[in-house]
Amino acid sequence: SSDNHGDFDVVVVGGGPGGSTLATLVAMRGHRVLLLEKESFPRYQIGESLLPSTVHGVCRLTGVADELAEAGFTLKRGGTMRWGANPDPWTFAFSVSQKTAGRTSTAFQVERMKFDQILLDNARRKGVDVRERCTVIDVTEDGGRVRGVTYTDADGADHRVNAAYIVDASGNGSRIHKHVGGTREYSEFFRSLALFGYFEGGKRLPAPNSGNILCAAFESGWFWYIPLSDTLTSVGAVVRREDAEKIQGDPETALLKLVDECPLVKDYLSDATRVTTGEYGKLRVRKDYSYHNTTFWRPGMVLIGDAACFVDPVFSSGVHLATYSALLAARSINSILAGLVDEETALTEFEARYRREYSVFYEFLMSFYDMHVDENSYFWSAKKLTKNTHGELESFVELVAGMSASEFGLNDAESAALRFKKRSAEFADAVDELVGDQERSMMPLFKSSVVRQAMQQGAQEQTRVQLGAEAGVDAPMFPDGLVPSEDGLLWVASADA
Ligand code: FAD
Repeated sequence: SSDNHGDFDVVVVGGGPGGSTLATLVAMRGHRVLLLEKESFPRYQIGESLLPSTVHGVCRLTGVADELAEAGFTLKRGGTMRWGANPDPWTFAFSVSQKTAGRTSTAFQVERMKFDQILLDNARRKGVDVRERCTVIDVTEDGGRVRGVTYTDADGADHRVNAAYIVDASGNGSRIHKHVGGTREYSEFFRSLALFGYFEGGKRLPAPNSGNILCAAFESGWFWYIPLSDTLTSVGAVVRREDAEKIQGDPETALLKLVDECPLVKDYLSDATRVTTGEYGKLRVRKDYSYHNTTFWRPGMVLIGDAACFVDPVFSSGVHLATYSALLAARSINSILAGLVDEETALTEFEARYRREYSVFYEFLMSFYDMHVDENSYFWSAKKLTKNTHGELESFVELVAGMSASEFGLNDAESAALRFKKRSAEFADAVDELVGDQERSMMPLFKSSVVRQAMQQGAQEQTRVQLGAEAGVDAPMFPDGLVPSEDGLLWVASADA
């Protein structure tokens, strides 16, 4: 059947952080937004460690920051890493200096069942028509333009709904992303597998870092150790894709064997027991999770979040990229619907900015892996930027080609290799300053250009939200490009700002 109460300005597919954020930001401009979510919330999702710009930037703009602050999530001041040349862990804090360590240079470790629910409920409050247990089946097209979707509701009834824009925010398992054209390109370099579960009673880092994410490299890969509450910890091992068989047998045995290989995590889990009931009782596996779509939009349709791209979990960039791309896409759609900017210009700005942010994290994460030294390990030797990663460097050049190749200073894989080498050495030097020190800020890491770049856009958006008009006008990212409006919900021409 066709939906009688007519059509919407925007239909959002998926109610994760990307979808709920976009839906909220478009509804805040008075547009009619329908959000279709396959599951009944709360539903499980991985991706529990957040960055400050999500919590204090985008979530402030959607009006949900205070509720998040009161939800009892673990406060994350930064990260503690057993990673790099030195065997001792190092710690960074998000604050730029000890003195300025304010309330906004922190993030949270979240149980996604709670976090995503808070964001989705907020979307409802902001006027979004949220329908759970509604699975989008297909996209409808007409005259070279995406016009709507078909979906099945909780009772099994089929529907068809039209809208000016369809936003695919249905995550890595999206079944409709292909409709924008292009292909999903998987990364060889980040080709890994993650095996993860939950433990009660694990140790905590000493204060003030007890809420930090702990990442520990070991011979077969690396572990995340994320304190979700005083007693509950999310623990995951990232290993080679080739190790898949080991896990297929018995995941429990495989995980415990990996824990045995990593002295730091073994020690932290020495008094802990694995959760074996409820949603946290399952051991889960994710494979081949780093990819990007070669295009992010076409007339009438936009991809955001994991539906568009994802790169490696080590620096917790997934939810940031999902919510940041939601913000960019919402500005573009709001500007088009208001008749302020034409579709081509608005969505080209969205894609260029999103691709740039993705590329910045991609490069940062490659440097992150390149820094770790373990010549005898298959996992780590494959993460060295050498001739063997030539293909990956070529893909990176393609990834940034056309929109920011000049900014990245790249024209071929050779120059990419030189640039990566130089910049990852710089990063490793910056990290050396942090080794053995428990109380550092982010400052030493800012000597590294990959770190600076990775933090820049998030920080800028956060400043905009906090200061409003006082933040002044941003410089356009691209020559004669668009800049955010004062309220952050639209694009305006830089000449008019
Ligand atoms: P999702 O959160 O996946 O939401 C998509 C929603 O769409 C789901 O609710 C789904 O039910 C719904 N849906 C799917 N298909 C349909 C359909 N056909 N119709 C209707 N609804 C549909 N990120 C971090 O920030 N920090 C981390 O520490 C972190 N760790 C990670 C560890 C691993 C091993 C992996 C693989 C990822 C990790 N991530 C992390 C990434 C994070 O999980 C994702 O980037 C994030 O969840 C993306 O949000 P999203 O809104 O795009 O999609």
